[in-house]
Amino acid sequence: MHIGRFKYNRSTFYGLVEGDTVRELNNDIYHEFSTGSKEYQLKNLIILPPSHPAKVVLVGLNYRDHAKELNFSIPEEPVIFIKPSTTVIGPGEPILYPDISRQVEYEAELAFLIKKECYRVKQENAGEYILGYTCLNDVTARDIQKKDGQWTRAKGFDTFCPVGPFIYIPAKDFDPHNLRIRAILNRETRQDSNTNNLIFNINYLVQFISSVMRLFPGDIISTGTPAGVGPMQPGDEITVEIEKVGKLVNPVVKAGK
Ligand code: MG
Repeated sequence: MHIGRFKYNRSTFYGLVEGDTVRELNNDIYHEFSTGSKEYQLKNLIILPPSHPAKVVLVGLNYRDHAKELNFSIPEEPVIFIKPSTTVIGPGEPILYPDISRQVEYEAELAFLIKKECYRVKQENAGEYILGYTCLNDVTARDIQKKDGQWTRAKGFDTFCPVGPFIYIPAKDFDPHNLRIRAILNRETRQDSNTNNLIFNINYLVQFISSVMRLFPGDIISTGTPAGVGPMQPGDEITVEIEKVGKLVNPVVKAGK
């Protein structure tokens, strides 16, 4: 099932997405939820990013095919970094291309949301703390990433973290480590891989990251990008599509002065 966060007039709410219809939830998504009687047409709602994360934690190099493409050896442990919450935008919102960069790139990634507060989680218990899965685009100003050495500026521009469109709440037989993942620039497929190429699996990432920092409900963890990253230009439309999870589409627009 897919749960979205929506805006209608001035109210913000979570809802269960069933085709073109959205049924409002009675309570928040971090506890047992049920649907109420209020129903909307999806087309009449603004789709918001799936949460207000305290932080977005991302993994640097986590796909075998991407490591190979870069001629990097397989890392011994994950490299993690953070995007500020101000980077997060929802589906359809424009990615603003900053005028100080000449090379802004897409990175299609499978992300997941944290369900409850946790710290020092063992990987065998990680499932208890995962609410669901979503698509994420780890937009990166590659030229600035190379220039700075540090990644905070290159990955931290406002709008550089499209997330959504919805949260996929996993069915019992769902395997996050066997999903086709693609980036489509305009109509051209640029990344086409499978999460079975992940170097560090999701449960291990929960253990690794929570051994460093406390995680809160709504925090987002992104699992890294496969081979085929590349540049986007103002006027482009970028899609991150993950089997079963969803399809996230954002336009790229030149940032205003
Ligand atoms: Mg990335």
